[in-house]
Amino acid sequence: MSWSADADLVVVGSGVAGLTAALDATELGLRVVVVTKDAVDSGATRWAQGGVAVVVGDVRGDSVRAHVADTLAAGAGLCDAAAVA
Ligand SMILES: Cc1cc2nc3c(=O)[nH]c(=O)nc-3n(C[C@H](O)[C@H](O)[C@H](O)COP(=O)(O)OP(=O)(O)OC[C@H]3O[C@@H](n4cnc5c(N)ncnc54)[C@H](O)[C@@H]3O)c2cc1C
Repeated sequence: MSWSADADLVVVGSGVAGLTAALDATELGLRVVVVTKDAVDSGATRWAQGGVAVVVGDVRGDSVRAHVADTLAAGAGLCDAAAVA
């Protein structure tokens, strides 16, 4: 199958990262196309039923370092620390 579309930005992946980028870019007035390899909800995002933890940046004590520590603690020894970092 072949198809074409005009866009200012192509986002690869329809998880929370890709869709957040796509929505932000759309709000900036860009024409966005999202492509993904499978069903729209086939990635990890659908499993994050406790919500998605992020670094907001303007909250006291909030930092990338704290987010990494939280992720490693929640992973209970199963995380690849380099991948988390
Ligand atoms: C069981 C489980 C529970 C979780 N619970 C939580 C939680 O409670 N709180 C929390 O903060 N986090 C949680 N997480 C982690 C969280 O889900 C992920 O960190 C987050 O969803 C990652 O988002 P993402 O957009 O980077 O990746 P994904 O949601 O995995 O999206 C990746 C996208 O890229 C696409 N893609 C991949 N390869 C290609 C390719 N070659 N070509 C085109 N498209 C491609 C996929 O199809 C998918 O659409 C959990 C994860 C799991 C597995």
